[in-house]
Amino acid sequence: MHKKLFIPGPVEVYPEVLNAMATPMIGHRTKEYADLHGAVKTKLQQLLYTKNKIFLVTASGTGIMEACVRNCVNKRAAHFVCGEFGERWFGISVANGKEADKFDVPLGKAIKPEMVDNGLKTGDYDTVFITHNETSVGVMNPLSEIAEVVKKYPDVLLIVDAVSSMGGVKIEVDKWGIDVCLSSTQKGFALPPGFAVCSVSNRALEKAKQVKNRGYYFDFLEFDNFDAKNQTPTTPSVSHLFALNYQLDQIFKEGLEKRFNRHKELAQICRDWVRNNNFRLFTEPGYESITMTTADNTRNINIAKLNEELGKVGYMISAGYGKLKDTTFRIAHMGDTTTQELRELLSTMESIIRVC
Ligand SMILES: *Cc1c(COP(=O)(O)O)cnc(C)c1O
Repeated sequence: MHKKLFIPGPVEVYPEVLNAMATPMIGHRTKEYADLHGAVKTKLQQLLYTKNKIFLVTASGTGIMEACVRNCVNKRAAHFVCGEFGERWFGISVANGKEADKFDVPLGKAIKPEMVDNGLKTGDYDTVFITHNETSVGVMNPLSEIAEVVKKYPDVLLIVDAVSSMGGVKIEVDKWGIDVCLSSTQKGFALPPGFAVCSVSNRALEKAKQVKNRGYYFDFLEFDNFDAKNQTPTTPSVSHLFALNYQLDQIFKEGLEKRFNRHKELAQICRDWVRNNNFRLFTEPGYESITMTTADNTRNINIAKLNEELGKVGYMISAGYGKLKDTTFRIAHMGDTTTQELRELLSTMESIIRVC
């Protein structure tokens, strides 16, 4: 039996999207392809409220995370870390031989603007790396406030991992001054995994010109050269582009505000359920994720058993990430999930939990 996915990636993909993915192949140096590429770019600019360049990248999101490190850091990177994905990004900087420092908070807590300000005041850094929605703990960092602080430092680039928020939460790239905003397709876009997108500012491109050893596959300047022709340097996953183009149309058909509100409503339903069932929200009040919910396993249920039983009736949720595997569980409500679908999952969980 297919298990309906309520895990924070990959999420459930509608059959229509899978069908779009099965569109007969076209050559990636044809006009047909360029038209498709251009259409997807324009729609992503609209979704992100930006005039910045959009790069379409055949890799998972981590590929663009590495690209940002290789293209944007000359002096020293400031990584603001509140969970495993922020930790990963810091590790990528180190693995690429970049000078980097980590500013972290206890698990469940958010990064605050003052913390970023204090870091940048030292004058040591040319880049800020931050995870918008930290999927390992379900914390949504106050990105617009943090962006406001970064604006005080005109030479510092703001680079944002929006893998589990893009498409579900409003991100105003130009207004907030985000230099790179990246995501992959298997979360908020509700597409199969294996493809990633980002917006890149002119400032970031100018910076890349001064950075040596940008590497080959993820060189922003090469991306930019090919972007002018609505192409990519290497063969892209054309199938993902067909599906993404279809899905972006669906997103605008739903309407952006409506879509963002649906996610808020889903989050409210899930948080209420957590409280009403004698669990606690794991995350710092006021910074709970809108696209997923992390529950503190205060009832000490067997989460593996819960998922096993859910599997028998066609559902899957997620245990906590890493160290939090047995002490928290996570329910994703992103992509195309409807309030009715979430309610069905939650009421199923309610009956199953009694025997876990
Ligand atoms: C899933 C996730 C990633 C990793 O993305 P991949 O597409 O698996 O490389 C990075 N950051 C966040 C916040 C995520 O949720």
